[in-house]
Amino acid sequence: MPVPKAPVHIDTTKASIARVYDAFLNGKDNYEIDREVFRRVKSVAPEAALLAYDNRAFLIRATRFIASQTNIAQYLDCGSGLPTAENTHQVAQRINPESKVVYVDNDPVVIAHGRALLEENDQTHFSAADIFEPEQVLQDEVVRKYIDFNEPLALFHMGTIHHYDGARSPQDIMQTYIDALPSGSYVGISHFYDPQTDEYSELARRMEDVFVHSPMGSGVFRTRAQIEGLFPGLEMVQPGVVECARWWPDGPELKPLDPVQYCIVGGIARKP
Ligand code: SAM
Repeated sequence: MPVPKAPVHIDTTKASIARVYDAFLNGKDNYEIDREVFRRVKSVAPEAALLAYDNRAFLIRATRFIASQTNIAQYLDCGSGLPTAENTHQVAQRINPESKVVYVDNDPVVIAHGRALLEENDQTHFSAADIFEPEQVLQDEVVRKYIDFNEPLALFHMGTIHHYDGARSPQDIMQTYIDALPSGSYVGISHFYDPQTDEYSELARRMEDVFVHSPMGSGVFRTRAQIEGLFPGLEMVQPGVVECARWWPDGPELKPLDPVQYCIVGGIARKP
């Protein structure tokens, strides 16, 4: 069944991933129930907003890298989130105005008003599909119309896979996406991280516990081996999977990272 183009009803008694993320980023498109999730996470990790800020800054730097250092001019951005400052198409099109971006998200609020803001120009399109059903996304009408799978593309799963708790393995989901990409394509993933150190594992576990038992209901902190496993058969771009704050930062690190900043990592890889 195709996902409806417009929401029938937005349930404001349930938190949504997109709106909670918006609350973390100090946005305006969230309800009390979403802010409640943010407050609960802050009660165990006062600087929890950095999870979202570092993730978003990584997405922006990754897009800038791909737009400026490769010939790629098409992006499939799975889990767009609500529009905020510096969306993928704005970053990519500033460097290469020919860049095409297809966003995919299934959140009712994103579908209701986000898509209009995200579909800002003829090079930018939106599809309402389930990003954890890669077969659905890869066959989607909008995706097939605007993404040419004979040419290398950038596939993004930024801040998405840690919300997946279905029966299929996340590695298998990514493998299905990667199998459909032509050689020379890039994959960008960011993910909540359990550093498996005495110092930060406890914090990751506490945040996971709050996320999973909150009205949002998801947020898994996976290990390095699990996250690296999301890039099967790909060549990691240096420096590999690292804290989002440390993936080619804009300058030297003068301040020590806050503990939560060790709990979100990202990486970019190329399909040989
Ligand atoms: N990628 C953006 C970023 O990194 O800034 C937004 C990340 S936000 C934490 C995750 C997004 O994934 C939300 O907008 C949510 O609606 C979307 N999402 C979660 N599960 C999804 C699903 N099964 N299908 C489509 N979108 C989904």
